[in-house]
Formats: sequence, C-alpha cells, structure tokens
Amino acid sequence: MSPPPAPTLLDGFAYRDGTMHAEDVPLATIADEVGTPCWVYSHGVLDARFRAFDAAFAGIPHLVCYALKANSNQAVVRTFAELGAGADIVSEGELFRALAAGVPPERIVFAGVGKTAPEMAAALQAGILQFNVESEGELLRLSQVAAGMGRTAAVALRVNPDVDAGTHAKITTGTPDNKFGIEIGDARAVAAQAAALPGIRLAGLAMHIGSQLTSVEPYRAAFGRLADFARSLMNEDGHRLERLDLGGGLGVHYRHAPPVDLPSYAAAARAAVAGFPGTIVLEPGRWLVADAGILLARVQYVKRGSLKTFVILDAAMNDLVRPAMYDAWHPLRPVTEPAAGAEPVTVDVVGPICESSDVLATAREMPPVAPGELVAIGVAGAYGAAMSSFYNSRLPAPEVMVRGQGFSLVRSRPSYDEMIAHERLAPWQTHQP
Ligand SMILES: *Cc1c(COP(=O)(O)O)cnc(C)c1O
Repeated sequence: MSPPPAPTLLDGFAYRDGTMHAEDVPLATIADEVGTPCWVYSHGVLDARFRAFDAAFAGIPHLVCYALKANSNQAVVRTFAELGAGADIVSEGELFRALAAGVPPERIVFAGVGKTAPEMAAALQAGILQFNVESEGELLRLSQVAAGMGRTAAVALRVNPDVDAGTHAKITTGTPDNKFGIEIGDARAVAAQAAALPGIRLAGLAMHIGSQLTSVEPYRAAFGRLADFARSLMNEDGHRLERLDLGGGLGVHYRHAPPVDLPSYAAAARAAVAGFPGTIVLEPGRWLVADAGILLARVQYVKRGSLKTFVILDAAMNDLVRPAMYDAWHPLRPVTEPAAGAEPVTVDVVGPICESSDVLATAREMPPVAPGELVAIGVAGAYGAAMSSFYNSRLPAPEVMVRGQGFSLVRSRPSYDEMIAHERLAPWQTHQP
C-alpha cells in the first residue's frame, strides 16, 4: 500500500462528522486507548513542514538542522532524519537522542553557552559537523579537549549581532544583555585566536537571535550584519569560511495574525548570503513541530466562583508550561464540535497542580464544556512535551504519532516505580519506621 498523502499545512487536526480528528483518526479513539492527558502529533504535518522549509532554500547549498530542544521525541527526530535533516543540539543528551534517531553525525551542530569538557569529548568522538562556540573561554577549552584527543574541532563562532528580535523577553537572545554569543565587536579578535589554536579549525560563523520571531526585519538586519562580518573576515583577514549558520526562531501562528511567512524569511536569508561560497545552515525548531501537535486532555470539573468560572483539566503546567512560563496563548477547542451558535462562556482553564500559575488559558472565551469532555490544546508540538516534568509527581503524558488512519504510541507513560527508580534512602533510613 502506498503511504497516505500528506495533508496540506495546518490541516492535521480538524472536525469531521462532529468530532475532531488527527489526520483520519478520531481523537476520542486515541484518548480511549492511551488515556489522557496525552500528546498527539501528525506525521503528515511534520513531513509537510520539513519539506516546505527545505524547499524554500532550494538552489543554494544548505543544511536544515532541526533544533531538537523543541521536541526531542525519537519518532519526531526520525521523521526529519528520514527527510535528510541534520540536528541542532544543546547537550550531550541531545547528541545521544539525535544519533539514536538516525541523524548522521556529519549533520549535527552543537550550540549552547555551557558545554562541558565531557560533552565536547563526546561530540568530537561522534564526529559532529561543527561546534557553535559562544565565548573565548569555550574556545580555549575546546582547543584543549580536541588537541588532547588528537582531533580537530570545526568551529563556527556564534556572533551576537546586537539585533533585538522583538519577541518575549524570555526567548530573545541577540542583544548584549543576553548570555548568548560573542559580541560582534569582539568577534574579529576571537576569530584570529581560533585560527591560531591547536585542535581548532575556524569553519564559519553562527547566529540565533531568539525564538518565535514575528517580523522579518530583525532577521534582515542580523543576517546582513553576519554576512558583512563574514566578508570582512574572508577578504581582510584571510579566513576561509565554509558555513554560515543563520539559526532558527521562525515564529508560528498561536493567536494573532501569522508572523513572518516562510518565503520572506528565505528571501532575507538568500539576499544576505548572495555570493557566499559555502553552505548555509538553518536551525528551525518551533516552526517544524508546533502545528503538528496537540495536547489532548479531559475536563474534570467546572467550578463556578463569584468572580470566575474555572475549567479544571487533567492536564497541567507539568505537561504544558508555556502559558505559566511565557504567558503563552494556545488555541483550545472541545473535541466534540460545538453546536452552531453555541453561546460562548469566559473561563480560566487550569490544571490540578498546587500552584496558582497552573493555568493553561486565562479569561478564555470558548464554547461551554462539561466534566468528562475532551479538549484539544493546539499548536502544542513545540516546547510542550520537551519541557514537561514530574512536578507534583504527575507522570509525563504519553505521546502518540498519527499517520493517515493509523497511530502509534511513541512515548509511553512511565510507571510510578519508574518515577522513583533513581531515588534511594540514605543508609540511616533503612529501618522501617
Ligand atoms: C532554540 C534554538 C533554536 C531553535 O529555535 P526555534 O525558535 O525553536 O526555531 C535554534 N538555534 C539555537 C542556537 C537555539 O538555541
């Protein structure tokens, strides 16, 4: 049988016959089989998103390194690896995940401000494509580690281009008050140093100015600065640069009008790097996965107070922390299609965790829902499951991937035994109380 056709963008989740489906599978079927809360991903949307992103850079040598931290599930990473993706990793754990999912080491770039010596050694051992180095201290340590192993580390200096991405303060990274990157005014000296250090090959420059960017202007400015700087390093200082890594950060449509569209983003990149003789690396995370996932939850109670009505779900901030952490807004829909003309109510949608910040939606106008009903929290494929925790000793929600009429559990719910498996009593506590 030939594989089912990929759905067009954004239509992985839709009402059909009065109930919401993921591709061709009713969400209620998934809830019955794996329980709630659970994450549901559309393989078709993941596939379509990667193909669209990759196609936007057709004709120029490029490598799309999926930023694993957005959603590091093996089945998600494998989906992209099968399409030729590389990986942007930020820890040894992500290196392990990328390799385990089948990403070839020569397509892996390693970012992050705090790489330890063992992490560097593991990545050198694996033979990754490049280290995106964020400070002089890191460069010196990498030189020591690589030279000690008799290896050469390919390095891209991550430059902080001093461009405000205009995004939420907690996810902006491209100005001097952030911990990220080497300030562009200092980068020339660091490049000279890199060229002279043992165990280091200066292979390129990198940048990443933030996440959930909603305008193309910061990209245009930052890409331009990076490309100008690359030209001066090549033409004036004689460095040979093989790669320019333009980072990620392309926003998605949570609430307001769609942010930057892919063609304008790609056009800004193409214009900036025109004439650059090497390869362009791109590190999208959120854009590839956000729309491909929902968090499926069941209403437990509807609690009416004197000021507010609370819809209490079985999903919480330990599952989806974005509303609590970034004031994020996620679309929320009853799985059973509301009757046409159903009078909306204004509610706070919350979880069972003992924190007032355990909120999934505040003052949300939505069709009325009743205890026992399923709701879908949309645009949750990015920074959802990946940021989940055991807080309140709640088990992380399982993850399901849908493809056409089929679906598969791609991460099971751990057991309570597994939850405490790494905990030990101290030796003086071994007597039963
Ligand atoms: C987080 C991150 C990305 C991906 O960001 P998105 O907003 O998810 O696209 C890319 N590169 C680096 C260095 C990152 O830290």
